[in-house]
Amino acid sequence: MDSEGVLMPLIHEHLMVPWNDLRKGDCCGHLEAISDGYYCKTCDFFLHKKCVHSPEFIEHPSHPDHTLRLQSKPRHNCSLCGKRKLNIFYRCDFDVDLYCK
Ligand SMILES: [Zn+2]
Ligand SMILES: [Zn+2]
Ligand SMILES: [Zn+2]
Ligand SMILES: [Zn+2]
Repeated sequence: MDSEGVLMPLIHEHLMVPWNDLRKGDCCGHLEAISDGYYCKTCDFFLHKKCVHSPEFIEHPSHPDHTLRLQSKPRHNCSLCGKRKLNIFYRCDFDVDLYCK
């Protein structure tokens, strides 16, 4: 099987290539002790594998009425911690990053 790249339409518009790097993920804004991930050369955009494989929908105790859906949008603040500028988060009328979920 040819594994030149992977398309993850929920998360990023470009083809992502499997990549090993110890750096801060653009997914969660954290430095992880794992190097497995995916990278977009066009955008210098790096995602941790474990963040990429987060479920598409989650329930969150702070927002019990609706299901939150994984989405990407550049430089967005988390509704809970409000600190980080993230690229991937769970969204409804409420946004939560991958670490506050
Ligand atoms: Zn991450
Ligand atoms: Zn890109
Ligand atoms: Zn947060
Ligand atoms: Zn909602």
